[in-house]
Amino acid sequence: MQYIRGIAIPDNQNIMINVQNLCKKYKDILALDSVNFHIRQGEIYGLLGPNGAGKSTTINILSTVTLPDEGEVILDSFNLRTHADKCKNILGVVPQEISLYDELTALENLYFWGGLYKINRSELKQRASSLLDMMGLTDRKNDRIDTFSGGMKRRVNIAAALLHSPKILLMDEPTVGIDPHSRNLIFDVIEELHSNGLTIIYTTHYMEEAERLCDRISIIDSGKIIAEGTLEELRNISNIKESIHIDLTSIPDENSFKAELFSDFKITQHENSIDFFTTNSGRDLSKIISLLTESGHEISSLEMRKANLETVFLNLTGRQLRD
Ligand code: ADP
Ligand code: MG
Repeated sequence: MQYIRGIAIPDNQNIMINVQNLCKKYKDILALDSVNFHIRQGEIYGLLGPNGAGKSTTINILSTVTLPDEGEVILDSFNLRTHADKCKNILGVVPQEISLYDELTALENLYFWGGLYKINRSELKQRASSLLDMMGLTDRKNDRIDTFSGGMKRRVNIAAALLHSPKILLMDEPTVGIDPHSRNLIFDVIEELHSNGLTIIYTTHYMEEAERLCDRISIIDSGKIIAEGTLEELRNISNIKESIHIDLTSIPDENSFKAELFSDFKITQHENSIDFFTTNSGRDLSKIISLLTESGHEISSLEMRKANLETVFLNLTGRQLRD
């Protein structure tokens, strides 16, 4: 283990982002409760969690918008507390709320945001133009932002974050509320940036996005990281291979859900649907159906699902990601 200003850094791993013991309270709400993670150079790291989990609070602290109550952040060997300006220079930030000037064109917006960094004028012009091209917006570059769709604005926002060629890109739910074309284009761009070695934090509440894009994922809930790893590692955490999702025609009363009835299974219930977690659905399915019908329940639909991040989350918290 080596130390940078007292912060432990795992050996030989080329750590680009090291977050230790981050805590943040808003009045009574503990938005972050001792959050720890480190991210290697070139990784896409996913922060996956439901609304209110603490994703934006983490991004806002890393991007120097919010001060933590406790904890340390090292970005590429710079401590955020003591070297905020150095950190800002290596960070590109795509915040959850799009920040662009409606009355300026796409290109003028990039010139404005680029002007905040020390990029010389000819380089800025060239960069803005090639980034708008990468984002598929060359033919709209001289149009005002207020004529753009949400997805197009988001693409301009991403271009703005990349103008100064940052080493780290923070993206806070960049695909919420945008059209599929923009989303796919953004995914392609992220994959290209990844192959060029950019280090990326990507927050989302869509497990499919985390599964598709991220090298490693941490699942965050109520300000705490409750699991971390590659998709495969996360699948293995709960030792659950499959879930059987069953919808009933009525909402079962609590008595019909006596613990002994389902003592063989780990289950979660949401009104009239139940998820049974199992290592072998082939073996357990008929037993589950008999248990339900014998206790007077009528099944309206049934689906077997391979364990995915939603299952892992459900299994760890007893709640659905999109509750
Ligand atoms: P996420 O981005 O995962 O949806 P946030 O980080 O925005 O979650 O919020 C985490 C928790 O902190 C939530 O309970 C939220 O209501 C609270 N919170 C976030 N920002 C503020 C703020 N400026 N003032 C008060 N509470 C806040
Ligand atoms: Mg958020």
